[in-house]
Amino acid sequence: MDKTYQALYRVWRPKTFSEMVGQEGVRKTLRNQVKTGRVAHAYLFCGSRGTGKTSAAKIMARAINCLNPRDGDPCGECESCRTILADQSLDVYEMDAASNSRVEEIRDLLEKVDYPPQFGKYKVYIIDEVHMLSNSAFNALLKTLEEPPDYMVFILATTEPQKLLPTILSRCQRFDFGRIGENEIAGRLREAVEKAGAEADDEALMYIARAAEGGMRDAFSILDMCMGTGERITEKSVRASLGSADRESLMELAGHIAESDAAGALRAVDRVMREGWDVQVFLKDLTALFRQLAAISLCGKDSAVQDAERMAVLAEKFSTRRLMRVMEILMKAEGDTRWASSARSVLEIAVLSACENAAGGDVNALAERIAELEKEVETLRREGVAPARAEGDLKARDASAPAAPEPRRRQPPAPNEVWKKGMKLLQEKNPLVFGLVSAEVYGGCVGHEYRIRMQPGGAAKKIMDENDAVNLITESLWQAGDPEARFEILTEGSRENTEWEKQLEKNEKTLADLVGRDKLIVVD
Ligand SMILES: [Zn+2]
Repeated sequence: MDKTYQALYRVWRPKTFSEMVGQEGVRKTLRNQVKTGRVAHAYLFCGSRGTGKTSAAKIMARAINCLNPRDGDPCGECESCRTILADQSLDVYEMDAASNSRVEEIRDLLEKVDYPPQFGKYKVYIIDEVHMLSNSAFNALLKTLEEPPDYMVFILATTEPQKLLPTILSRCQRFDFGRIGENEIAGRLREAVEKAGAEADDEALMYIARAAEGGMRDAFSILDMCMGTGERITEKSVRASLGSADRESLMELAGHIAESDAAGALRAVDRVMREGWDVQVFLKDLTALFRQLAAISLCGKDSAVQDAERMAVLAEKFSTRRLMRVMEILMKAEGDTRWASSARSVLEIAVLSACENAAGGDVNALAERIAELEKEVETLRREGVAPARAEGDLKARDASAPAAPEPRRRQPPAPNEVWKKGMKLLQEKNPLVFGLVSAEVYGGCVGHEYRIRMQPGGAAKKIMDENDAVNLITESLWQAGDPEARFEILTEGSRENTEWEKQLEKNEKTLADLVGRDKLIVVD
């Protein structure tokens, strides 16, 4: 090993487009431009931190100046590549606007625009965090962007493109860098671990990938931190380095939520907090746990999940609908902790809210309770305790459907039959969508319009949209014998916020009753 220690993300910084993780589309387009020589004068790379913007900018600077580019990638060996890699090139400038936003500096840089490149074909200015430039620096840049010399290439990078003036945006070719997938990140971490001769569990690397939220650089920083000990990296050791609670505490809390045991849940939170865990990290972990539970509830036991047996048992205790609701509560709370005066109160309110199990007169809660009861009956029926559900029950359930016309006698197929059959077909096609639909309230069928009710803007609705559920379900209904079937998701107006506010109020009251109002405002 070298005497000087280099941060992993530097060691693993990609040197070619091919070595980059993720960003398929961006890589392909840039390589093509290098190959065809159709290089733009100004690029804007947008995306959250650690998604590869600066790496791509550096690769681009080398690629367009490389003497022997290979399939759009810089060769890394020619004189130009070597000079730029060694940071000795006079043709490639890099500046970080976050630390250099003084006007003189950018003006100084822009004055040099008139001197053609000394060695390469292009002169490249890379400006990181370009939105941080001062106004006058910006104006100077804008002027240059209006009529850049032929050899000039600007690569501007930013995490906040919305802060840029339209005049800048319109002069740049924009590339959006998405968050990198967890599997891709974990894969790259695995390579780094092996190269370093270290040892790590798969779960540990996946945990790091999740914590890094799509940023490769953050993932490497966490790995760096964990490798410092020289011991095998486990999920436990990663959690300890990150200040997040152990899985045992999370599962215990989830168990209390399942039983709607508010007092037990609050005690669990209290213990976790006294151990010094970070509220935000804890909420994130709890959300991730519920996401796994929802996946198990929808698609069945997943042996790839840690503690598969126990997770399956835990998932059984919830209806899918309720898991979705808990996830929504937790995700909302995660956002709320950012501006709340007491992050801990937000956590406690969220946990209490998650504990609430259809006790109130709320329509959604009621539907949830019905779904849960149905699940229980279904289980009993499977075990041979209760009689099979009679056809009449299904009809009765449909009575709430708006003005459903009496299906004409003996004219098959009846909407209910079509629906049931369609759902069976759907289950085979896409278990995830099937699970979500069965967790929702079937709104019945009018004419050939089949409906379900769903909360707008919720996690379930989002997943449905992503899976093109409407078309998928319509098609299943056609195949089930109603070629004129149309499918619709009914959502009620934007009541999400007011609902949430009402819920908060209610929970604050519950919390006050439980712990005493004077303890409610805790300042962290
Ligand atoms: Zn080269």
